[in-house]
Amino acid sequence: TASLRGEAIKTTCAYCGVGCGVLATVDADRHFSISGDLEHPANFGRLCVKGSALGETVGLEGRLLYPAIGGVRADWDHTTTYIASQLKDIIAEHGPEAVAFYVSGQFLTEDYYVVNKLAKGFIGTPNVDTNSRLCMSSAVAGHKRAFGTDTVPNSYEDFEHADLLTFVGSNAAWCHPILYQRIKKAKANNPEMKIVSIDPRKTDTNEIVDLHLPIKSGMDVLLFNYLLVEVSKSPALNTTYIDQFTDGLADALLAAQRDVALGDVAERLGVDGVTLAQFVEWFIATPKAMTLFSMGVNQSGQGTDKVNAIINVHLATGRIGSEGAGPFSLTGQPNAMGGREVGGLANMLAAHLDIHEPSHRALVQDFWQSPTMIEKQGLKAVDLFDAVATGKVKAVWIMATNPIVSMPNADRVRDALANCPLVIVSDVIADTDCTRVADVVLPALGWGEKDGTVTNSERCISRQRGILAGAGESRADWWALAQVAQKMGFEGFDYQSARDVFVEHAALSGVDNQEGGVLRDFDISALSALTQGEYDALNPIQWPIKLVDQKLVGTQRLFEQGGFFTTNRRAKIVPVQNVATGNVTSNEFPYALNTGRIRDQWHTMTRTGLTSRLTRHIGEPFAELNPKDAEKLHVSSGDILQINSQWGQALARVIISDGQQPGMVFVPIHWNGINSTQSRIGAVVNPVVDPYSGQPECKHTPVMLKKA
Ligand code: SF4
Repeated sequence: TASLRGEAIKTTCAYCGVGCGVLATVDADRHFSISGDLEHPANFGRLCVKGSALGETVGLEGRLLYPAIGGVRADWDHTTTYIASQLKDIIAEHGPEAVAFYVSGQFLTEDYYVVNKLAKGFIGTPNVDTNSRLCMSSAVAGHKRAFGTDTVPNSYEDFEHADLLTFVGSNAAWCHPILYQRIKKAKANNPEMKIVSIDPRKTDTNEIVDLHLPIKSGMDVLLFNYLLVEVSKSPALNTTYIDQFTDGLADALLAAQRDVALGDVAERLGVDGVTLAQFVEWFIATPKAMTLFSMGVNQSGQGTDKVNAIINVHLATGRIGSEGAGPFSLTGQPNAMGGREVGGLANMLAAHLDIHEPSHRALVQDFWQSPTMIEKQGLKAVDLFDAVATGKVKAVWIMATNPIVSMPNADRVRDALANCPLVIVSDVIADTDCTRVADVVLPALGWGEKDGTVTNSERCISRQRGILAGAGESRADWWALAQVAQKMGFEGFDYQSARDVFVEHAALSGVDNQEGGVLRDFDISALSALTQGEYDALNPIQWPIKLVDQKLVGTQRLFEQGGFFTTNRRAKIVPVQNVATGNVTSNEFPYALNTGRIRDQWHTMTRTGLTSRLTRHIGEPFAELNPKDAEKLHVSSGDILQINSQWGQALARVIISDGQQPGMVFVPIHWNGINSTQSRIGAVVNPVVDPYSGQPECKHTPVMLKKA
């Protein structure tokens, strides 16, 4: 890697799911110069402020530099031997399910593949979950219910072809800044393009919005059910597409009609009838319509139903997988999608195969030559940490994530980990909320050091390239996992490089993947013969990938002509009805807490908190209130607000904004317990989850507010 110094290397950003290409140059003192990669199809040279500041977050200060057991420095050989023997003892006494892994959408695909292989095929525990559970697992569940697979049907380019673009539960201006800028430019080039935002909050995204529907929190299903009913009475209903490629419209329509019949829709949504009618009129009249949804949809006790309510209107109009038309999940993390490809969630198997299908399990077991194959899905994030709290899980290996800050009911997670017999933490940072409760710490490679692949929100696989040698004794996460696997006596983990892992993953995606076989959407087997040189030179490409005339060909769009991955190859229009949020406000807890991201920080700030450029935008936790509520609470801008729920407490500085609805308070997710013991908003968030996806309802927790 030292030989790469001084050269401009193409890599990808470490942060959000846009997956921007980065051109990085480093000198002998680890000083980076960063610019956008003009040729990368996600960003064509643009970077947001977080991506531009990547080089300022890779210093050695605060890095975890060597492994340690019980706080005492140890070498890798000794530490991985210790972990292997501890895990074997726990498995011998309590069974394999007493072991769990909690990993991350920050992982590279290669790391994700190895942890899943080790857990699901060798240790025999299904308990591997990831912080992606908090991010987009409702989108996964919604895609699977509708399409039979977890497939994003369109590409970013479609945003530029759309005539109507609707954001649902997304502040893209802050959370997906480069896509937002692409859309802003597209609107400037096409003044006829209409943009709608469906969001209880007025945010910076509103700058380009023609119509804002500030619906009440949790009412998305009713809105899209109403749209389905109106579409069904209009020429936009595409009976040809419905008859040829879908099932279930009659039942879904019946459910929607029942929902709509419960009372005045505009009033129940909390919007005026004229605005609602305008949105419906635009949607019906515009064939090139894209609906972009994000955490406001996914992070809900009814997240999966919300996703399906959105997909339903696209299936009923046949506006899916075609130029400028389709539903689109804006993924939060850089490699949440790659994680899904290798089965990174507790309810998935590798290569988009299903745990509950015996033939799928047999295929994977045969390919891995594994001694044990799990037979059921594992514990999803909230249940996983509950199982740590109750002692069912006795060993947990946390990698590249900080659940003591990010999980709902985070104080319970902190206490559970403090009492867990074996907590292993792999991280780049030495002092985090999680390393403080770890029995064993392992130094991981950081951005600029690690080498592998990521997949962004539009199914585009890109290389993230190692430019620098790892700090101290840090090593790749896939390598640490493979060392432990080998020391536990397992074969099949003798990987020498990230490329070795990647080609195995690619080969698995193609096994028996054909009509009459175990057919699935995710196929990158054309990459399974990549040499090291070809892997190093791999250009961004969207799966599924084919080899045509010795050339790799990706796929921009799917499903315009059906071809779904259900048993009968038809999509399912899923009946859904609006249900109330998991916890409702009361006299004791009269406000609804909504949590989310800010523009210049990432997750729990362990990296973005390192540069003053990024803390300049917003430097401390805040609570955004409507002026009427501020008056009622006798607080002014700059006061400290105490936020209490029945789960915990946090403090934040008051900001007053009429973009916030009365009765709601918005607090960002980023500040951790190292910043201050009172700034982890996760401690306040309720642990309600969606019944299908297990995704927590981070957008609606009843709270009590008072001046601190
Ligand atoms: Fe990185 Fe996302 Fe910003 Fe692109 S938009 S530079 S991927 S944080």
